[in-house]
Amino acid sequence: MQAKQVFQNMSPYTPGKQIEDVKKEYGLTRIVKLASNENPFGYSDKIKEAIPKMIDHLEIYPDGYATALRETLAKKLNVGEKQLIFGCGSDEVVDIICRTYLEEGTNTVMATPTFPQYKHNALIQGANIVEVPLIDGYHDLETMLEKINNQTKVVWLCSPNNPTGSLISRDKLDSFLDRCSADVMVVLDEAYYEYIEASQNPDSLGLLRKYPNLVILRTFSKAYGIANLRVGYGIASEEVATYLNIARGPFNTTSISQLSALTALEDEAFLQRTYEENLENKKAFMKSCDEMGLSYYDSEANFLFVKLPTSGDALFDYLLRKGFIVRSGEALGHPNAVRITIGSKEQMSELVTNMKEYLASI
Ligand SMILES: *Cc1c(COP(=O)(O)O)cnc(C)c1O
Repeated sequence: MQAKQVFQNMSPYTPGKQIEDVKKEYGLTRIVKLASNENPFGYSDKIKEAIPKMIDHLEIYPDGYATALRETLAKKLNVGEKQLIFGCGSDEVVDIICRTYLEEGTNTVMATPTFPQYKHNALIQGANIVEVPLIDGYHDLETMLEKINNQTKVVWLCSPNNPTGSLISRDKLDSFLDRCSADVMVVLDEAYYEYIEASQNPDSLGLLRKYPNLVILRTFSKAYGIANLRVGYGIASEEVATYLNIARGPFNTTSISQLSALTALEDEAFLQRTYEENLENKKAFMKSCDEMGLSYYDSEANFLFVKLPTSGDALFDYLLRKGFIVRSGEALGHPNAVRITIGSKEQMSELVTNMKEYLASI
C-alpha cells in the first residue's frame, strides 16, 4: 500500500537527542538539555501537588470541551469561551488549521526558517508551500504580502520566530493585517509569548476584534513548563473557532493535562520568576557571546540563535561530549549556527566555559 504521493519525500519528525541515550553513549552522569526550549525551572509546584489527586477515574473519557480550563482561560484573556480551541499541544492546533483550510489547489505562505510543523502538515493536506526567507532573523512581511494570491488560504507568522527568536512588532502586525486579504487566515504563533519583554508586548489579543481572519496560538509547553502534558490552544473569532473545533478529535486533551494547565494559570509567581530569570540569563549569555566574538539574532524568546565561525554540527558534537545538548542549525538551513535554549544561571556559565574551550581549540 502506497501512502499519498507527497509522503514519498517526507519523513517522521526527528526529535532532539534523548538524555538517557547520550548518558550511555558518552559515559556521562549528568546531561543538560538546551535543545527544545523547555523550561529549566521545571513547572509549578502546585501542579506537582495536584496531579496525584487527578488519577482517579482514568477509565472515564475526559471532558473534550475542557470546560473548566476554557472558562478560566477565557476570563483571563478576556475573550469569549467559544473563541478557544484546545489541542494536544499547539502542534495539534497547527494540524487542525491545515485540515480545516488547506487542500490541493491551495497554497500557504510562511517564513523560512520557521517552525517546521506548518510546512509538514500543510504538505500532507496537498497544499503548495510558499516560503519567504527571513531578513536578519525577522519575517519579510512585505514580500509575504506580495506572495499572497487567490489560492492562498493560510499565512503563518511565528512571533517570536523559532529558531531566530525575533519578534514581529505591533506596528508591523497591524500594517500586515490591514493589507492582508480578509479571505486569508493569518496564524500568529505565539508559543513564546510569556517570554516577550514587557516593553515589547504586542498585545495581539486586541487585534482579534478587528481581524476575524486572525488565529493566535499559545501553549503550556514553554514558559509554563508542562511540555510533557501536551496542552496548547488557539484563540480566534467564534466562527473560526467553531470550524476548528469540528476538525478536532473529540477527546484530544486529557483530564490530567487540562487540570495541570488550569493549575499553571493559578501560579503567577512561577511564571513571573521564569520570565525574570530567563531575561537575566539571556542578557548574560548575550554578553558572553559578545566577549567570544559570536553574533546572534535578536531574541524575545527563551533561546538564542548564535552564528558560528564553524559548523553548528561541530559545536553540537563538542558540547554533547561535555554533557550539553543544543540544536544545530544544520537541519534549519543555517549550517553555521546553533540554537541554544537559555538554561539556569549555573547551566549557562558552564556552557560558556565549554564554548570558550571549543573556540580556543579550532
Ligand atoms: C514549541 C513550539 C510549538 C509547539 O508547542 P506544543 O508543545 O505543541 O504546544 C509551536 N510553535 C512554536 C513556534 C514552537 O516553538
